[in-house]
Amino acid sequence: MATHAAFLGSALPTPTLGTSPRRSHRFTIRAQAADPSDKSVEIMRKFSEQYARKSGTYFCVDKGVTAVVIKGLADHKDSHGAPLCPCRHYDDKAAEVGQGFWNCPCVPMRERKECHCMLFLTPDNDFAGQEQKITLDEIKEATSKI
Ligand code: SF4
Repeated sequence: MATHAAFLGSALPTPTLGTSPRRSHRFTIRAQAADPSDKSVEIMRKFSEQYARKSGTYFCVDKGVTAVVIKGLADHKDSHGAPLCPCRHYDDKAAEVGQGFWNCPCVPMRERKECHCMLFLTPDNDFAGQEQKITLDEIKEATSKI
């Protein structure tokens, strides 16, 4: 089970999940400073909802985590033309986009349902919520406080 996901980069969205009710795991997500277009956020929001349904996965119990990841994907879509995973460091983002391995949904997710960003969580994950939906307002509200 993924217990730690870190967006490599600087500043911004820092939703922190506290202790799991069942286990004492703790993780923090730090996202890159990003201000993606509303259009790309909406595209990635819809994609995330559809892919959660298709893959039988759920958003994090803390929607702030979901919101930050969606905004990170949207930022990469704006800046690099593809939703490159926002939870990793890349020396050459353009080359990574071209290879496609970490374009969302990445290969580990497609092959094994492993999403280290905690955007798509299998039901047995301690941090999985019960929802496969998130509104644009939820995304904006969750990311405006951080
Ligand atoms: Fe990143 Fe893969 Fe999760 Fe998409 S599915 S957010 S690319 S880890």
